[in-house]
Amino acid sequence: MNLSVRKFDAVVVGAGGSGMRAALELARAKLKVAVLSKVFPTRSHTVAAQGGIAASLGNSSEDNWHWHMYDTVKGSDYLGDQDAIEYMCRRAVEVVVELEHMGMPFDRLDNGKIYQRPFGGHTQDYGSPKMAMRACAAADRTGHAMLHTLYQQNVKANTQFFVEWMALDLIRDPSGRVIGVVALEMETGEVHVLQSKAVLLATGGSGRIFYSSTNAFINTGDGLGMAIRAGIPLQDMEFFQFHPTGVYGAGVLITEGVRGEGGYLLNKNGERFMERYAPNAKDLASRDVVSRAMTLEIQEGRGCGPNGDHVLLKLDHLGADVIDKRLPGIREIAIKFANADPIKDPIPVVPTVHYQMGGVPANYMGQVVVPGANGPEEIVPGLYAVGECSCVSVHGANRLGTNSLLDLVVFGKAAGEQIVRDVRALPESHPDLPKDAADRPLARLAHLDSASSGERVVDVSTDLRRAMQLHCGVFRFPQMLKDGVTKMQEIAARAERVFIQDKSKVFNTARIEALELDNMVQSALATVVSAEARTESRGAQARDDFKDRDDANWLKHTLYFPDGRLEYKPVHMKPLTVDAFEPKVRTY
Ligand SMILES: Cc1cc2nc3c(=O)[nH]c(=O)nc-3n(C[C@H](O)[C@H](O)[C@H](O)COP(=O)(O)OP(=O)(O)OC[C@H]3O[C@@H](n4cnc5c(N)ncnc54)[C@H](O)[C@@H]3O)c2cc1C
Repeated sequence: MNLSVRKFDAVVVGAGGSGMRAALELARAKLKVAVLSKVFPTRSHTVAAQGGIAASLGNSSEDNWHWHMYDTVKGSDYLGDQDAIEYMCRRAVEVVVELEHMGMPFDRLDNGKIYQRPFGGHTQDYGSPKMAMRACAAADRTGHAMLHTLYQQNVKANTQFFVEWMALDLIRDPSGRVIGVVALEMETGEVHVLQSKAVLLATGGSGRIFYSSTNAFINTGDGLGMAIRAGIPLQDMEFFQFHPTGVYGAGVLITEGVRGEGGYLLNKNGERFMERYAPNAKDLASRDVVSRAMTLEIQEGRGCGPNGDHVLLKLDHLGADVIDKRLPGIREIAIKFANADPIKDPIPVVPTVHYQMGGVPANYMGQVVVPGANGPEEIVPGLYAVGECSCVSVHGANRLGTNSLLDLVVFGKAAGEQIVRDVRALPESHPDLPKDAADRPLARLAHLDSASSGERVVDVSTDLRRAMQLHCGVFRFPQMLKDGVTKMQEIAARAERVFIQDKSKVFNTARIEALELDNMVQSALATVVSAEARTESRGAQARDDFKDRDDANWLKHTLYFPDGRLEYKPVHMKPLTVDAFEPKVRTY
């Protein structure tokens, strides 16, 4: 088959905050850059980020990057790589000020500086009871402000966007170098090859593999599926963050900024129960801690409502002025999805899947690294990963709120800088494409186009989401995990046999959902297999049979390989310039 081939210096797969920050760096350096996105760029999930972006500007409270680094290491339950964490916290001020200068409309203090609010796990003075005001915010629509700013800057810099193009697979040459992607133009249904000297995965998370999720429908882990199919392992996929406050029944997110502004959680007795679980930080303990406390309250019979299956988030005491000024989007969401106006009534909430700490293994320059003959972290030439689809790993076993928007811009910029250096060192011309470059995705599409019977995509994907929710929840049980692995293997086999009724090419969403299912299967398998194997509790992984963190045996990163095999590699305990933070018992 003759496919159209286009040639670029760099192809960025994904137009969220991370992909667009990287693309901006590339376009400004005059590289020929293509950005692919399944949706219009400003509809990427980054647009939904509410609460803020962390940087130790010190505008509203005393602060510095050392404290931010300490909080992030502790928040990660010591699984985060300390070199990468230092890099991120040190560069935070620079990248936020840059966003400000690009025109991002942050909220302001009376003195004109950027407004900052407290957020879970962010403290002063290395974990003292005093919270740091570190989250820079544009009301409760920070991601919206950020994504639109980055999009406008990219348009100005002549980045070329391929909107509603779905990347299907990576192309590697015989030496293993990544030299392009195969992509589907959704409008026409045609398959194209984009050849490139560098490919950056910025496809976001796979939160949609769970039944109840705050994530956008497009967050199906496509970059993870592409990596696995290209032989690249996934790191630390067992660590999935449950956000404490998803709207009960709907899953829509209520930002932690609500608690940052002074809101708190209540059980059915009207008790502010977080005081028992985290005497210092209370409702602003880190997310894994708050989600577990809520789940225990519900399990022990102190949940609210006729079924006792949720708790309440109270914020009416903040007053209508604060709510309308700082949390207008939250008021709208609560009225629409919970039928509760927070100016008068508390919002019913439950822990809801929110963020994937794991992903494609990468270093802090965005280079993808895999085990090889010379050690556990050999660079895969031509391939880079940033944002939620990557595992750098700054979030370790649990991410702090507002540290994701930060990692998008810090590592988006760093990866951009690295790609500029690497591309400039390569020959002008592109190598020949392997003959079989597009064979796998074409065969998959041919199968979908020809199969006349099989299972419906929606049935298999619903079973997948339900199984993940049941077998891999806030608390994890040994037999449930074992059964979860078996169930997911069965679902993976069923996914191979799906069939679609609509065989048309033009904007065929059934075809796209079938392709997304392949990627969800890979993310879900990696998650449940890695979770079953890790016999300890750390960060977001809370095992009923191994209740404690086990540094002697488990202070290490998981790598899940395409054949289902697991390997482990050491955590980087050595920061770049400062002394390491040694693991200690984590309390808030
Ligand atoms: C509701 C909500 C609120 C949040 N609030 C905050 C917050 O206040 N602060 C914070 O720090 N973090 C927050 N987070 C987390 C943070 O927003 C995300 O982790 C982050 O935005 C992810 O950005 P990204 O660039 O990795 O990917 P995304 O923004 O998810 O973008 C992914 C991009 O990849 C594209 N893509 C995916 N697959 C393909 C494919 N096959 N082919 C082509 N393109 C593809 C998509 O079209 C999209 O453009 C929040 C998350 C949610 C869900």
